[in-house]
Amino acid sequence: MKVTVFSTKPYDEQFLRRHNQASNHELVFIENRLTSETAALAEGSPAICAFVNDELNARTLAKLAAGGTRFVALRCAGFNNVDLAAAEAHCIQVARVPAYSPHAVAEHAVALLLCLNRHVHKAYNRVREGNFSIDGLMGEDLHGKTVGVVGTGTIGAIFAGIMRGFGCEVLAYDVVENPDCLKAGVRYVSQEELFSRSNVISLHCPLMPQTHHLIDGHTLAGMRDGVFIINTSRGALIDTEAATAAIKSGRIGGLALDVYEEESELFFDDHSDHVIQDDVFMRLTTFPNVLITGHQAFFTNEAMTHISMTTFSNLADFENGRDCPNLVKAKAN
Ligand code: NAD
Repeated sequence: MKVTVFSTKPYDEQFLRRHNQASNHELVFIENRLTSETAALAEGSPAICAFVNDELNARTLAKLAAGGTRFVALRCAGFNNVDLAAAEAHCIQVARVPAYSPHAVAEHAVALLLCLNRHVHKAYNRVREGNFSIDGLMGEDLHGKTVGVVGTGTIGAIFAGIMRGFGCEVLAYDVVENPDCLKAGVRYVSQEELFSRSNVISLHCPLMPQTHHLIDGHTLAGMRDGVFIINTSRGALIDTEAATAAIKSGRIGGLALDVYEEESELFFDDHSDHVIQDDVFMRLTTFPNVLITGHQAFFTNEAMTHISMTTFSNLADFENGRDCPNLVKAKAN
């Protein structure tokens, strides 16, 4: 089967080629993002493969359908970038990789927190320049602190367990309680209480209309002074301009982001030779207490292997007319 793969990076090609040996699909690797302008590149492909910043809106899906595409294999868990109602209207099935390595993302959230709290990013540069002064590098013990976890699904539950191991009190907010978290001593509270009591807040819920700008000027006003906020979930959970104001006022003491609401124009590409036009993003990079990584939380060998293998399993289900367990439907969004 011809499968057009959008937003291809060298590492995607390497893992997908490796796991294609059994299926022997005709893989067409495209570096461009999938948008309504690039959708025509998939002409004649019954299936396409897409990633987090590909734009699967109604226009793109209409063009894919006109070119003969009937299956979208997302090589990610989140599907907020897909208009599922439009996909259904065009008889295009959409499948995802529900949990490729929740440990990878939870561990990256911990890495960001530890780095930010103990100023490892600054210490690294100081020592390389022969500056061994520790002035300004003081952090806080995490032991005994209160950590708030918003969303205790697969990733949030692992993050909460790691924080319990550090000796933190862990508060959680979710629309459903996770029994594993309760067993680990996590306490469910209202979102308001979580925001008002936590020294550290880590976001692990999906981006949906209900969670868009979950952290904004209003919710920031109810948080502790100097709160640390970690977002490895989706950028638009945070109103970036409100967060910038809160960093300037000292309400936010540390902000670590692996995702950014306007990341699709920036992340996964090398812009080091260009003048970046996004002033909101560039302002964030000027703060000493903001740490940003470019959507790499998932990026481990184990996760890439799992993504690749599940993607081929989803494609095989489609090709053989079997029920695919990883389909996402409009009502679930
Ligand atoms: P999951 O579906 O297992 O868990 C999500 C949890 O959020 C569920 O328990 C759900 O009940 C909860 N939730 C839903 N609505 C909520 C609300 N309004 N408030 C609070 N909680 C709510 O998902 P997961 O696998 O744990 O992934 C979490 C998120 O991590 C994904 O949505 C994705 O956006 C993000 N992610 C990021 C990366 C990365 O590389 N940075 C990689 C994978 C996933």
